[in-house]
Amino acid sequence: MANETKKYNAFDNTIRVLDDAAKKLGLKDEEYATLRYPERELIVSVPVKMDNGELKVFEGYRVQHNSARGPYKGGLRYHPDTDLNEVKALAAMMSFKCAVANIPFGGAKGGINVDPSKVSRDELIRITRRYTMRVLPIIGPDQDIPAPDVNTNGEVMGWIMDTYSMFKGHAVPGVVTGKPLEIGGSIGRPEATGRGVTIIVYQSMKDYGMDPEKSTFAIQGMGNVGGTAAGILYNDGRKIVAVGDWSGAVYNENGLDIPAIRKYLSDRRNCLAKYDSADVKHLTNAELLTVKCDVLIPAAMENQLTADNAGQVQAKLVVEAANGPTTIEADKIFAERGLPVVPDILANIGGVVVSYFEWVQNIQSMAWDLDQVNETLKKIMLRAYADVKNMSVDKKVTMREAAYMVAINRICTAGKLRGGPISMG
Ligand code: NAD
Repeated sequence: MANETKKYNAFDNTIRVLDDAAKKLGLKDEEYATLRYPERELIVSVPVKMDNGELKVFEGYRVQHNSARGPYKGGLRYHPDTDLNEVKALAAMMSFKCAVANIPFGGAKGGINVDPSKVSRDELIRITRRYTMRVLPIIGPDQDIPAPDVNTNGEVMGWIMDTYSMFKGHAVPGVVTGKPLEIGGSIGRPEATGRGVTIIVYQSMKDYGMDPEKSTFAIQGMGNVGGTAAGILYNDGRKIVAVGDWSGAVYNENGLDIPAIRKYLSDRRNCLAKYDSADVKHLTNAELLTVKCDVLIPAAMENQLTADNAGQVQAKLVVEAANGPTTIEADKIFAERGLPVVPDILANIGGVVVSYFEWVQNIQSMAWDLDQVNETLKKIMLRAYADVKNMSVDKKVTMREAAYMVAINRICTAGKLRGGPISMG
C-alpha cells in the first residue's frame, strides 16, 4: 500500500505541475487536455522459464504518452517497485523533455516489475526477449524507440535490437538507442545524461552567482547518471563532499576520492554502506539529502525530496538529475525558501539528446566522433537552458514551471499544426 501511494503521487505530481503550467500559459482545458492522458498504455505478461525449470510470469508495461512532435521515445526500467502509474508519469515526462530539448520526438516509457539482482543473466535475457516480443507491434524506429533507464543498459538494448531484428528479418539498429558502439550505438551515449547534468550545473551556478571552485557538491545515486556526473565534476577539480547509493552514503568535508569510490562500485556486489575507507564518514540516505553542501544533485529515484525533509536541505541549489526526485509539496517549500531547483525535464535531457543523435546516425548509416557528439550536446543543452530561463524571467515563474510551459507550448503548437484532436471529430 505504501508503494501504491508513492506511485500514485509520481503521476499525480506530473499532472498537477502540467495543469499549473497550462493555466499560467492561459490555455483553455481543451487546448491541452490530451496531455493529461497517455495516448496508449500497454500491460503485458512476461512468462519466463527460470533456470530451475519453474515458470514465472512478470508484468511489463509500455506507455506512449504523446506523439504530436514525432515518434515516441523513452527508456525501459527494471525494478521491483515499477508499476503502471510510475511508467505513465515517466512517459509524460519524456514528452516534456523531448519538447524542452526541441528534438523531434514524443514521449514513452517502459518497465518490467522485476528485481534484476534476483535473477540470473540468462533469465534476464529471456525476460527481455519475451517482453520485446510482447511490445513488438508498437515499437520500431519510426514508432517508439526504447533506451536504457534504471537497471537496464547497452547490453539489454542489444538483446532488444536482436529480438526485434529477428522478427523483421534484417538488422534494425534504430529500434533502440543506448546500444553498444559495435552494433550501432553512439559514442558518448553512456555518459550523456551525466555529462548533460554537469553542463546544466555549471550554467545554473553561473546564473545564481555561485563559484564552482569554492562550492561543494552532494550527489544521491552513483549509477550511470550520478556516477558519471561525479566523475566529470571530480575531474574538473570540484569538491564532492557526499555521495550515496541504495545502501547509504559516504561523506568527507574535504572532498571524496570519487575515482576510488567508482572503482569500488564497478563491482556490482559492492555498495557504499560497506565502503571501508578511513577518509569517509558514513551517512544514511536521509542524512545525505540534508548534508551541508552548496549544490545537491539527486540522481537516484523519484520522491526523495519531500515535505518531510525540504525544510532541512542545506544546499543553495538543487539540480535534478533523477526523474521526479522532488514532490510538489517539497517544491513549494523550496520556492518559499528561495532555493532554486533546476528541474529534471531540463537537467537530465542529455541522454535523450544523444539518443536522438544515435537514431540520426542509424538512419543515415554513419557515425559521428566524440567531439561532434559532445559539442552538439552542449549546444542543445545550453539552448534549452536559455529557453527555460527566458520563460522563467518573462513569466516570473520557477524554472520547473517555465520548463513545463516551454514544453506545453511546443507540444500544443505541434498538435494544432497537425489539425488537433478536435478536428478528428
Ligand atoms: P542506475 O540504476 O544506473 O543508478 C541508480 C543509482 O541510484 C544507484 O547508485 C542506486 O544504488 C541508487 N539508488 C537506488 N535506489 C535508491 C534509494 N532508494 N536511495 C538512494 N539511492 C538509490 O540508474 P541511472 O540510469 O543512473 O538513473 C538514475 C535516475 O536518473 C533515474 O531517476 C532515471 O530515471 C534518471 N535518468 C536516467 C537517464 C539515463 O540515461 N540513464 C536519463 C534520464 C534520467
